[in-house]
Amino acid sequence: MKIALVGIGKIALAQHVPAIAASADWDLAATVSRKGTVEGIEAFTDFATFLAARPDVTVVSLCMPPVPRYAYAEAALLAGRHVMLEKPPGATLAEVHALTALAAEKGLTLYTTWHSRMAYAVAPAKAWLAEKTVTKCHITWREDVRRWHPGQNWVFEPGGMGVFDPGINALSVMTEILPKPVHLTAATLTFPENCQTPIAAALTFTGGVTADFDWRQEGPQTWDIEIETAQGPLALRMGGNRLEIGGREVAGENSIMGEYPALYARMAELVAQKQSDVDLRPMTHVADALTLGRRDTVPPFHL
Ligand code: NAP
Repeated sequence: MKIALVGIGKIALAQHVPAIAASADWDLAATVSRKGTVEGIEAFTDFATFLAARPDVTVVSLCMPPVPRYAYAEAALLAGRHVMLEKPPGATLAEVHALTALAAEKGLTLYTTWHSRMAYAVAPAKAWLAEKTVTKCHITWREDVRRWHPGQNWVFEPGGMGVFDPGINALSVMTEILPKPVHLTAATLTFPENCQTPIAAALTFTGGVTADFDWRQEGPQTWDIEIETAQGPLALRMGGNRLEIGGREVAGENSIMGEYPALYARMAELVAQKQSDVDLRPMTHVADALTLGRRDTVPPFHL
């Protein structure tokens, strides 16, 4: 199937382009981006022009930040294209509900991707936990925003989600693997004086679940989910790519490179089956934290 990538920036070049190139399902037929291009691929700078010029490209994958994404997704669905959304799927929950309804009305596929759910060890962790009684779960997601988002000021603008931009990846794994649903009961959000979004967050959920997200961690980076069950401990490390059970490593890879190929395989399956896959649980937890959270203010922070 022919696909177009829209919003050629950091993640499109690092993950989407190689995943599509390695897939037998997909042919990268066009890009749409105001500045970015992919060598050898027809490049448009305007989305409406692309939609009119290339009716043969029936699938679009939207890789720009969340705030501008809705307008592109709506235009694509109105023009009869299947749509794949980067995470988080939108700037608000309501706009993704609107897209879901529009896709259903048009008989098109809408896929809200969660790349961390495709990490190597998430499916085996989910299978192991399915019959277990979880007594405690702690998530530590601490990374250096200057290292991973150099110059990406949108992360600290309204709708950029701040530390929830990576933190929502942890929540996507949590909602996938826990055998019972949980909901947020308290949150403390740390806002630098000059930022519209938090740089750190401490979350408490029902079911003994807590989370510590921080974007100020220099040196070693931490993406861990540690779970205690009545039948022993399980830990996911490296963003869900490595699995420990009973304190011993049992599965996984020290790499995130399996995640995007798995997303594109899933999108091919969804289009073939004329289905959508929309799961807003990770984003609901973020919205709840922003609704319920206490605010701490800290000195200004600059990328
Ligand atoms: P980015 O590099 O800052 O932005 C991607 C591209 O989107 C930009 O190069 C820009 O291309 C286009 N864009 C930016 N603002 C726009 C606007 N207002 N209207 C239209 N197009 C706009 O961001 P990114 O890091 O790739 O992240 C994009 C999405 O992927 C985010 O939702 C993020 O959470 C997700 N993601 C990122 C990472 C990561 O490590 N960076 C990992 C996984 C997922 P043009 O200027 O050429 O139009």
